[in-house]
Amino acid sequence: MQAYVDDAIAADIRIAECITDAKGNRSLAPARQEDPDAYMHVVDRQSDGVVIRGAKLHISAASLCHDLLVMPTKAMKPGEEDYAITCAVPVNSDGVSIINTTYPPKGDDVRHFPVSSHASMPDGFVVFDDVFVPIDRVFLDGETANAAVFAHSLGLWERLGGITAMVHQADELVGLAQLIAEANGLAAVAHIREKIDEMAIHATLLRAGMEAALAHAKATPEGFYYPDELFTNAAKYQGAAEFGRMVRNLHDIAGGSVLTAPSIADLENPDTRAFVEKYMDTGTNVSAEDRLRLFHAIRDLTADAFGGWHLVTNLQSGGGLFAQRIVTRRHYDMARATSYAREAAGIEAPPS
Ligand SMILES: Cc1cc2nc3c(=O)[nH]c(=O)nc-3n(C[C@H](O)[C@H](O)[C@H](O)COP(=O)(O)OP(=O)(O)OC[C@H]3O[C@@H](n4cnc5c(N)ncnc54)[C@H](O)[C@@H]3O)c2cc1C
Repeated sequence: MQAYVDDAIAADIRIAECITDAKGNRSLAPARQEDPDAYMHVVDRQSDGVVIRGAKLHISAASLCHDLLVMPTKAMKPGEEDYAITCAVPVNSDGVSIINTTYPPKGDDVRHFPVSSHASMPDGFVVFDDVFVPIDRVFLDGETANAAVFAHSLGLWERLGGITAMVHQADELVGLAQLIAEANGLAAVAHIREKIDEMAIHATLLRAGMEAALAHAKATPEGFYYPDELFTNAAKYQGAAEFGRMVRNLHDIAGGSVLTAPSIADLENPDTRAFVEKYMDTGTNVSAEDRLRLFHAIRDLTADAFGGWHLVTNLQSGGGLFAQRIVTRRHYDMARATSYAREAAGIEAPPS
Protein backbone atom coordinates (compact mmCIF):
# COMPACT_ATOMS: atom_id res chain seq x y z
CA MET A 1 0.00 0.00 0.00
CA GLN A 2 2.78 2.38 0.96
CA ALA A 3 4.58 1.68 -2.33
CA TYR A 4 1.38 2.52 -4.23
CA VAL A 5 0.93 5.76 -2.25
CA ASP A 6 4.55 6.76 -2.89
CA ASP A 7 4.13 6.12 -6.64
CA ALA A 8 0.83 8.02 -6.71
CA ILE A 9 2.45 11.04 -5.08
CA ALA A 10 5.50 10.91 -7.37
CA ALA A 11 3.37 10.62 -10.51
CA ASP A 12 0.84 13.17 -9.15
CA ILE A 13 -2.10 11.04 -10.25
CA ARG A 14 -5.81 11.55 -9.43
CA ILE A 15 -7.71 8.63 -7.90
CA ALA A 16 -11.49 8.08 -7.83
CA GLU A 17 -12.95 6.43 -4.72
CA CYS A 18 -15.04 3.47 -5.87
CA ILE A 19 -16.92 2.13 -2.89
CA THR A 20 -20.66 2.07 -3.63
CA ASP A 21 -21.73 -1.22 -5.22
CA ALA A 22 -24.88 -1.79 -7.29
CA LYS A 23 -26.05 -3.79 -4.22
CA GLY A 24 -29.02 -5.58 -5.79
CA ASN A 25 -31.64 -6.37 -3.16
CA ARG A 26 -30.63 -4.17 -0.20
CA SER A 27 -31.97 -6.62 2.36
CA LEU A 28 -29.67 -9.44 1.19
CA ALA A 29 -25.96 -9.91 1.99
CA PRO A 30 -23.47 -9.93 -0.92
CA ALA A 31 -23.10 -13.71 -1.10
CA ARG A 32 -26.89 -14.23 -0.98
CA GLN A 33 -27.80 -12.02 -3.93
CA GLU A 34 -29.55 -13.59 -6.90
CA ASP A 35 -26.85 -12.07 -9.15
CA PRO A 36 -23.42 -12.60 -7.53
CA ASP A 37 -22.11 -9.53 -9.39
CA ALA A 38 -24.38 -7.15 -7.42
CA TYR A 39 -21.33 -6.56 -5.18
CA MET A 40 -17.79 -6.33 -6.59
CA HIS A 41 -16.05 -9.67 -6.25
CA VAL A 42 -13.06 -11.73 -7.31
CA VAL A 43 -13.96 -14.23 -10.04
CA ASP A 44 -10.49 -15.66 -10.62
CA ARG A 45 -7.16 -15.75 -8.79
CA GLN A 46 -4.00 -16.16 -10.85
CA SER A 47 -0.34 -16.34 -9.84
CA ASP A 48 0.24 -12.69 -10.82
CA GLY A 49 -3.07 -11.06 -9.93
CA VAL A 50 -6.87 -11.27 -9.58
CA VAL A 51 -9.82 -10.87 -11.95
CA ILE A 52 -12.74 -8.78 -10.61
CA ARG A 53 -16.34 -8.34 -11.72
CA GLY A 54 -19.07 -5.95 -10.59
CA ALA A 55 -20.04 -2.29 -10.83
CA LYS A 56 -19.42 0.77 -8.69
CA LEU A 57 -22.14 3.42 -9.03
CA HIS A 58 -22.27 7.23 -8.63
CA ILE A 59 -18.47 7.55 -8.74
CA SER A 60 -17.54 11.24 -8.68
CA ALA A 61 -15.22 12.24 -11.52
CA ALA A 62 -14.41 8.58 -12.34
CA SER A 63 -13.70 9.33 -15.98
CA LEU A 64 -11.43 12.26 -15.07
CA CYS A 65 -9.10 10.20 -12.85
CA HIS A 66 -6.11 8.00 -13.60
CA ASP A 67 -6.93 5.21 -11.17
CA LEU A 68 -10.12 3.69 -9.77
CA LEU A 69 -9.59 2.68 -6.13
CA VAL A 70 -12.00 -0.20 -5.58
CA MET A 71 -12.93 -1.11 -2.00
CA PRO A 72 -15.72 -2.90 -0.13
CA THR A 73 -18.80 -0.82 0.54
CA LYS A 74 -19.35 -2.37 3.96
CA ALA A 75 -18.10 -4.89 6.52
CA MET A 76 -17.79 -8.41 5.13
CA LYS A 77 -18.38 -11.65 7.04
CA PRO A 78 -16.70 -15.06 6.86
CA GLY A 79 -18.06 -16.69 3.72
CA GLU A 80 -17.83 -13.37 1.84
CA GLU A 81 -14.07 -13.60 1.14
CA ASP A 82 -14.47 -12.98 -2.59
CA TYR A 83 -16.20 -9.68 -1.79
CA ALA A 84 -13.42 -8.43 0.50
CA ILE A 85 -11.41 -6.87 -2.31
CA THR A 86 -9.51 -3.59 -2.41
CA CYS A 87 -7.36 -2.72 -5.42
CA ALA A 88 -6.26 0.12 -7.68
CA VAL A 89 -7.40 -0.21 -11.30
CA PRO A 90 -6.02 2.04 -14.06
CA VAL A 91 -9.07 3.69 -15.63
CA ASN A 92 -8.11 2.51 -19.12
CA SER A 93 -7.86 -1.18 -18.13
CA ASP A 94 -9.46 -3.76 -20.40
CA GLY A 95 -12.96 -4.50 -19.15
CA VAL A 96 -13.63 -1.09 -17.54
CA SER A 97 -16.57 0.91 -18.95
CA ILE A 98 -17.90 4.21 -17.56
CA ILE A 99 -21.40 5.48 -18.26
CA ASN A 100 -21.41 9.17 -17.28
CA THR A 101 -24.18 11.41 -16.04
CA THR A 102 -23.61 15.18 -15.99
CA TYR A 103 -25.70 18.20 -15.03
CA PRO A 104 -24.12 21.22 -16.67
CA PRO A 105 -26.28 22.92 -19.35
CA LYS A 106 -26.14 21.11 -22.65
CA GLY A 107 -26.27 24.05 -25.03
CA ASP A 108 -28.14 26.97 -23.47
CA ASP A 109 -26.54 30.37 -22.82
CA VAL A 110 -24.01 29.72 -20.03
CA ARG A 111 -24.89 33.09 -18.45
CA HIS A 112 -28.12 31.47 -17.25
CA PHE A 113 -26.09 28.74 -15.54
CA PRO A 114 -23.44 30.85 -13.82
CA VAL A 115 -22.38 28.03 -11.47
CA SER A 116 -23.09 24.70 -13.16
CA SER A 117 -21.50 25.83 -16.45
CA HIS A 118 -18.08 25.71 -14.80
CA ALA A 119 -18.43 23.89 -11.48
CA SER A 120 -19.97 20.49 -12.10
CA MET A 121 -18.34 17.15 -12.77
CA PRO A 122 -19.49 13.83 -14.20
CA ASP A 123 -20.59 10.99 -11.95
CA GLY A 124 -19.64 7.58 -13.31
CA PHE A 125 -21.58 4.30 -13.45
CA VAL A 126 -18.42 2.21 -13.56
CA VAL A 127 -18.55 -1.36 -14.80
CA PHE A 128 -15.70 -3.83 -14.18
CA ASP A 129 -16.31 -6.73 -16.55
CA ASP A 130 -13.64 -9.32 -15.72
CA VAL A 131 -10.82 -6.84 -15.13
CA PHE A 132 -7.36 -8.24 -14.41
CA VAL A 133 -5.56 -6.44 -11.55
CA PRO A 134 -1.84 -7.17 -11.00
CA ILE A 135 -0.91 -8.39 -7.55
CA ASP A 136 1.07 -5.24 -6.59
CA ARG A 137 -2.17 -3.25 -6.96
CA VAL A 138 -4.21 -5.55 -4.70
CA PHE A 139 -4.37 -4.33 -1.07
CA LEU A 140 -7.02 -6.62 0.38
CA ASP A 141 -8.08 -9.99 -0.97
CA GLY A 142 -10.20 -12.23 1.18
CA GLU A 143 -9.39 -10.78 4.64
CA THR A 144 -13.01 -10.13 5.61
CA ALA A 145 -12.04 -8.82 9.06
CA ASN A 146 -10.34 -5.81 7.46
CA ALA A 147 -13.02 -4.91 4.89
CA ALA A 148 -14.80 -2.45 7.18
CA VAL A 149 -11.60 -0.47 7.81
CA PHE A 150 -11.62 0.69 4.19
CA ALA A 151 -15.33 1.44 4.08
CA HIS A 152 -15.24 3.29 7.38
CA SER A 153 -12.12 5.35 6.64
CA LEU A 154 -13.48 6.49 3.33
CA GLY A 155 -16.80 7.42 4.93
CA LEU A 156 -15.12 9.64 7.51
CA TRP A 157 -13.01 11.58 5.02
CA GLU A 158 -15.84 11.79 2.48
CA ARG A 159 -18.11 13.29 5.15
CA LEU A 160 -15.48 15.84 6.17
CA GLY A 161 -15.19 16.81 2.49
CA GLY A 162 -18.99 17.00 2.35
CA ILE A 163 -19.14 19.37 5.32
CA THR A 164 -16.42 21.56 3.86
CA ALA A 165 -18.47 21.96 0.68
CA MET A 166 -21.70 22.50 2.65
CA VAL A 167 -20.14 25.19 4.86
CA HIS A 168 -19.30 27.22 1.76
CA GLN A 169 -22.66 26.43 0.22
CA ALA A 170 -24.54 27.53 3.37
CA ASP A 171 -22.84 30.94 3.42
CA GLU A 172 -23.51 31.26 -0.32
CA LEU A 173 -27.24 30.62 0.23
CA VAL A 174 -27.34 33.18 3.06
CA GLY A 175 -25.63 35.69 0.77
CA LEU A 176 -28.07 35.02 -2.07
CA ALA A 177 -31.02 35.43 0.31
CA GLN A 178 -29.65 38.76 1.56
CA LEU A 179 -28.86 40.10 -1.94
CA ILE A 180 -32.21 39.10 -3.46
CA ALA A 181 -34.05 40.54 -0.44
CA GLU A 182 -32.20 43.81 -1.00
CA ALA A 183 -32.91 43.68 -4.75
CA ASN A 184 -36.62 43.09 -4.05
CA GLY A 185 -36.71 45.98 -1.56
CA LEU A 186 -37.55 43.67 1.35
CA ALA A 187 -34.30 43.45 3.32
CA ALA A 188 -35.76 45.35 6.29
CA VAL A 189 -39.05 43.43 6.52
CA ALA A 190 -39.35 41.37 9.72
CA HIS A 191 -40.33 37.94 8.33
CA ILE A 192 -37.65 38.15 5.63
CA ARG A 193 -34.99 39.06 8.19
CA GLU A 194 -36.06 36.20 10.43
CA LYS A 195 -35.62 33.71 7.60
CA ILE A 196 -32.19 35.07 6.76
CA ASP A 197 -31.23 34.98 10.45
CA GLU A 198 -32.34 31.35 10.64
CA MET A 199 -30.20 30.56 7.59
CA ALA A 200 -27.21 32.40 9.09
CA ILE A 201 -27.55 30.45 12.35
CA HIS A 202 -27.55 27.16 10.42
CA ALA A 203 -24.50 28.27 8.40
CA THR A 204 -22.69 29.28 11.61
CA LEU A 205 -23.41 26.02 13.44
CA LEU A 206 -22.34 24.02 10.40
CA ARG A 207 -19.05 25.92 10.31
CA ALA A 208 -18.67 25.33 14.07
CA GLY A 209 -19.17 21.58 13.49
CA MET A 210 -16.48 21.55 10.81
CA GLU A 211 -14.05 23.50 12.97
CA ALA A 212 -14.74 21.23 15.96
CA ALA A 213 -14.13 18.15 13.77
CA LEU A 214 -10.70 19.55 12.90
CA ALA A 215 -9.88 20.99 16.33
CA HIS A 216 -10.57 17.58 17.91
CA ALA A 217 -8.63 15.64 15.25
CA LYS A 218 -6.92 12.49 16.49
CA ALA A 219 -3.67 10.85 15.43
CA THR A 220 -2.96 7.22 14.55
CA PRO A 221 0.10 5.59 16.18
CA GLU A 222 1.92 6.26 12.87
CA GLY A 223 1.19 9.98 13.15
CA PHE A 224 -1.57 10.34 10.55
CA TYR A 225 -4.32 12.75 11.61
CA TYR A 226 -8.00 12.17 11.04
CA PRO A 227 -11.03 14.32 11.95
CA ASP A 228 -13.16 13.71 15.02
CA GLU A 229 -15.85 11.09 14.27
CA LEU A 230 -18.64 12.62 16.38
CA PHE A 231 -18.37 16.21 15.13
CA THR A 232 -17.81 15.11 11.52
CA ASN A 233 -20.85 12.86 11.41
CA ALA A 234 -23.17 15.12 13.44
CA ALA A 235 -22.26 18.14 11.29
CA LYS A 236 -22.66 16.21 8.02
CA TYR A 237 -26.07 14.98 9.19
CA GLN A 238 -27.17 18.48 10.16
CA GLY A 239 -25.93 20.03 6.92
CA ALA A 240 -27.69 17.41 4.80
CA ALA A 241 -30.90 17.33 6.81
CA GLU A 242 -31.28 21.14 6.92
CA PHE A 243 -30.30 21.90 3.33
CA GLY A 244 -33.92 21.58 2.19
CA ARG A 245 -35.03 24.16 4.78
CA MET A 246 -32.28 26.57 3.66
CA VAL A 247 -33.47 26.27 0.07
CA ARG A 248 -37.12 26.67 1.13
CA ASN A 249 -36.31 29.94 2.90
CA LEU A 250 -34.33 31.20 -0.07
CA HIS A 251 -37.14 30.40 -2.52
CA ASP A 252 -39.72 31.91 -0.19
CA ILE A 253 -37.73 35.14 0.03
CA ALA A 254 -36.80 35.34 -3.66
CA GLY A 255 -40.18 34.92 -5.40
CA GLY A 256 -41.29 33.23 -8.61
CA SER A 257 -38.72 34.91 -10.84
CA VAL A 258 -36.32 32.24 -9.60
CA LEU A 259 -37.97 30.16 -12.33
CA THR A 260 -39.37 32.72 -14.76
CA ALA A 261 -36.86 35.58 -14.93
CA PRO A 262 -36.20 36.60 -18.55
CA SER A 263 -32.82 35.68 -19.94
CA ILE A 264 -29.81 37.94 -20.35
CA ALA A 265 -30.42 37.60 -24.09
CA ASP A 266 -33.91 39.11 -23.56
CA LEU A 267 -32.18 42.02 -21.88
CA GLU A 268 -29.88 42.42 -24.88
CA ASN A 269 -32.68 42.09 -27.44
CA PRO A 270 -33.68 45.61 -28.60
CA ASP A 271 -37.33 44.44 -28.87
CA THR A 272 -37.55 43.40 -25.23
CA ARG A 273 -34.80 45.29 -23.41
CA ALA A 274 -36.95 48.25 -22.34
CA PHE A 275 -39.70 45.98 -20.97
CA VAL A 276 -37.29 43.75 -19.09
CA GLU A 277 -35.50 46.74 -17.58
CA LYS A 278 -38.75 48.50 -16.70
CA TYR A 279 -40.47 45.56 -15.05
CA MET A 280 -37.48 43.91 -13.43
CA ASP A 281 -36.46 47.24 -11.88
CA THR A 282 -37.47 47.61 -8.23
CA GLY A 283 -36.44 51.20 -7.60
CA THR A 284 -33.65 50.00 -5.33
CA ASN A 285 -29.98 50.57 -6.06
CA VAL A 286 -29.80 47.10 -7.65
CA SER A 287 -29.98 47.20 -11.45
CA ALA A 288 -32.48 45.08 -13.38
CA GLU A 289 -29.56 43.14 -14.88
CA ASP A 290 -28.02 42.32 -11.50
CA ARG A 291 -31.41 41.23 -10.19
CA LEU A 292 -31.78 38.95 -13.22
CA ARG A 293 -28.33 37.51 -12.59
CA LEU A 294 -29.23 36.78 -8.97
CA PHE A 295 -32.36 34.91 -10.03
CA HIS A 296 -30.39 32.83 -12.53
CA ALA A 297 -27.76 31.98 -9.91
CA ILE A 298 -30.46 30.93 -7.41
CA ARG A 299 -32.22 28.77 -10.01
CA ASP A 300 -28.99 27.20 -11.20
CA LEU A 301 -27.84 26.38 -7.66
CA THR A 302 -31.13 25.26 -6.16
CA ALA A 303 -34.05 24.89 -8.51
CA ASP A 304 -33.32 22.91 -11.66
CA ALA A 305 -30.95 20.19 -12.86
CA PHE A 306 -27.82 21.18 -10.90
CA GLY A 307 -29.93 22.28 -7.92
CA GLY A 308 -31.58 18.86 -7.87
CA TRP A 309 -28.15 17.28 -8.05
CA HIS A 310 -27.17 19.27 -4.94
CA LEU A 311 -30.32 18.29 -3.09
CA VAL A 312 -29.72 14.55 -3.52
CA THR A 313 -25.93 14.74 -3.31
CA ASN A 314 -25.98 16.49 0.06
CA LEU A 315 -28.16 13.69 1.39
CA GLN A 316 -26.49 10.67 -0.18
CA SER A 317 -22.80 11.40 -0.73
CA GLY A 318 -20.76 9.85 2.07
CA GLY A 319 -23.79 7.68 2.87
CA GLY A 320 -27.39 8.67 3.62
CA LEU A 321 -28.64 10.21 6.87
CA PHE A 322 -28.92 6.78 8.50
CA ALA A 323 -25.18 6.17 8.09
CA GLN A 324 -24.33 9.36 9.98
CA ARG A 325 -26.88 8.61 12.69
CA ILE A 326 -25.23 5.23 13.36
CA VAL A 327 -21.74 6.74 13.73
CA THR A 328 -23.03 9.62 15.86
CA ARG A 329 -24.72 7.19 18.23
CA ARG A 330 -21.52 5.13 18.46
CA HIS A 331 -19.38 8.12 19.45
CA TYR A 332 -21.83 10.29 21.39
CA ASP A 333 -21.15 10.37 25.16
CA MET A 334 -24.41 8.71 26.24
CA ALA A 335 -23.03 7.98 29.73
CA ARG A 336 -22.60 11.70 30.32
CA ALA A 337 -26.11 12.41 29.03
CA THR A 338 -27.77 9.75 31.19
CA SER A 339 -25.79 10.82 34.28
CA TYR A 340 -27.11 14.39 33.84
CA ALA A 341 -30.61 13.00 33.38
CA ARG A 342 -30.36 10.82 36.51
CA GLU A 343 -29.10 13.78 38.49
CA ALA A 344 -32.04 15.90 37.29
CA ALA A 345 -34.52 13.14 38.14
CA GLY A 346 -32.84 12.29 41.44
CA ILE A 347 -32.35 8.60 40.59
CA GLU A 348 -29.39 6.28 41.06
CA ALA A 349 -27.64 4.41 38.26
CA PRO A 350 -28.57 0.70 38.28
CA PRO A 351 -25.78 -1.57 39.59
CA SER A 352 -23.50 -2.57 36.71
C1 LIG B 1 -23.63 12.77 -6.68
C2 LIG B 1 -23.15 11.61 -5.88
C3 LIG B 1 -21.78 11.36 -5.82
C4 LIG B 1 -21.30 10.23 -5.18
N1 LIG B 1 -19.95 9.97 -5.21
C5 LIG B 1 -19.52 8.76 -4.80
C6 LIG B 1 -18.14 8.39 -5.00
O1 LIG B 1 -17.32 9.16 -5.51
N2 LIG B 1 -17.76 7.15 -4.63
C7 LIG B 1 -18.63 6.27 -4.07
O2 LIG B 1 -18.20 5.16 -3.78
N3 LIG B 1 -19.93 6.58 -3.86
C8 LIG B 1 -20.39 7.81 -4.22
N4 LIG B 1 -21.70 8.16 -4.00
C9 LIG B 1 -22.62 7.14 -3.51
C10 LIG B 1 -23.21 7.38 -2.12
O3 LIG B 1 -22.29 7.06 -1.13
C11 LIG B 1 -24.48 6.50 -2.08
O4 LIG B 1 -25.43 7.09 -2.94
C12 LIG B 1 -25.00 6.31 -0.68
O5 LIG B 1 -24.10 5.59 0.11
C13 LIG B 1 -26.34 5.55 -0.70
O6 LIG B 1 -26.24 4.36 -1.45
P1 LIG B 1 -27.29 4.08 -2.63
O7 LIG B 1 -27.30 5.26 -3.53
O8 LIG B 1 -26.97 2.77 -3.23
O9 LIG B 1 -28.69 4.05 -1.92
P2 LIG B 1 -29.28 2.88 -1.05
O10 LIG B 1 -28.22 2.07 -0.43
O11 LIG B 1 -30.32 2.19 -1.86
O12 LIG B 1 -29.94 3.72 0.13
C14 LIG B 1 -31.22 4.34 0.03
C15 LIG B 1 -31.86 4.31 1.42
O13 LIG B 1 -32.05 2.96 1.83
C16 LIG B 1 -31.45 2.74 3.11
N5 LIG B 1 -30.90 1.37 3.12
C17 LIG B 1 -30.08 0.80 2.18
N6 LIG B 1 -29.80 -0.47 2.53
C18 LIG B 1 -30.45 -0.71 3.70
C19 LIG B 1 -30.55 -1.84 4.56
N7 LIG B 1 -29.93 -3.01 4.30
N8 LIG B 1 -31.28 -1.72 5.71
C20 LIG B 1 -31.89 -0.55 6.00
N9 LIG B 1 -31.86 0.54 5.21
C21 LIG B 1 -31.13 0.47 4.07
C22 LIG B 1 -30.34 3.80 3.22
O14 LIG B 1 -30.04 4.12 4.58
C23 LIG B 1 -30.98 4.97 2.49
O15 LIG B 1 -31.83 5.68 3.39
C24 LIG B 1 -22.20 9.35 -4.55
C25 LIG B 1 -23.58 9.63 -4.56
C26 LIG B 1 -24.04 10.75 -5.19
C27 LIG B 1 -25.54 11.03 -5.20
